[in-house]
Amino acid sequence: MNTNIWIVDKYVDNLENNPQVVDAANSLRKNEVVALPTETVYGLGGNAESDEAVAKIFAAKGRPGDNPLIIHIADRNQLSRFVTEVPEKAVALMDTFWPGPLTLIFKKKAGVLSEKATAGLDTVAVRMPDHPVALALLKTCGLPIAAPSANSSGKPSPTKAEHVLDDLNGKIAGVLDGGTTGVGVESTVVDCTAEIPVILRPGGVTKEQLEAVVGEVHEDAALKDQSQRPKAPGMKYTHYAPNAPLYMVAGPKEFLQTLVIEKEQEGLRVGVLTTEENRSFYKADLVLACGRRAELETVAASLYDTLRSFNQGHVDIIFSEIFPNEGVGHAIMNRLDKAAGHKLITE
Ligand code: AMP
Ligand code: MG
Repeated sequence: MNTNIWIVDKYVDNLENNPQVVDAANSLRKNEVVALPTETVYGLGGNAESDEAVAKIFAAKGRPGDNPLIIHIADRNQLSRFVTEVPEKAVALMDTFWPGPLTLIFKKKAGVLSEKATAGLDTVAVRMPDHPVALALLKTCGLPIAAPSANSSGKPSPTKAEHVLDDLNGKIAGVLDGGTTGVGVESTVVDCTAEIPVILRPGGVTKEQLEAVVGEVHEDAALKDQSQRPKAPGMKYTHYAPNAPLYMVAGPKEFLQTLVIEKEQEGLRVGVLTTEENRSFYKADLVLACGRRAELETVAASLYDTLRSFNQGHVDIIFSEIFPNEGVGHAIMNRLDKAAGHKLITE
């Protein structure tokens, strides 16, 4: 299959009439799948009401069929088509964070969405992305769009159109190239079906920000305890992994450097994942800085790009610094832990 590359300048006005966006919307109406930029990462979109389109998403990504998709909308009125009720706390969260990196789980109306999109659950995950190209595409096609991240399953999520093409060229109808995405880590997933909202996946919106709006918010116990079964089916899979094994290292940078030397003496090519502040400290085959530690948002924004860059550097092993597990650091550590397959070396 020939994969179209539709380049769109996200800063121009009136994107809904943009010929590239219209082309992409037409592909979606024909139940083809199309990658689109959102403010978190690139998504792989398809008509959420079509089994055919949704099957193409799972096939292109190689995604396990029990991992449900997030449905993207441009207008809150679309909710009533496939959701049975919108609780008051969900309304407050939408008022504050939509469009934005927050996914809400609702009770599902039966028979509207493809059963494959929700993996047969009686709930559905929905969000409104805060990206002019994504919103223009959603408005132009008028459909609810199922869109997981536009990477091969298990690889780091794409933050650039090139990343999408690295994984999916020839497998999808096209990619709307709207430049580099912003937040970098995916949306926070919050279950709104119970009285007290529960965070199922940490992300761009922090627990503190949610609590400022709706009071008490819980966190799925599986986020802290690996022996528990996560309520978001996708959280049990390894994800974001670079090709070489990645180890998180807790301890001072001098300790991490001794690990590098040990492995280099064994003849391995060693990579180090650090931040701008410590970049010049390390001596290794490939030292990559992922944003600035003093501003964790910059780390979130470049984490996946950095993980992918280690593949181009052909290293045999990667040691990574760790980050404070709070605020956006909580989402960063959740992704890093998965990329490392929970491998942590403590001094
Ligand atoms: P991704 O599309 O890769 O960003 O992942 C979406 C995440 O949302 C995965 O962890 C899914 O398991 C989770 N998710 C989607 N729909 C539901 C749902 N109805 N209930 C719980 N988790 C969900
Ligand atoms: Mg994903």
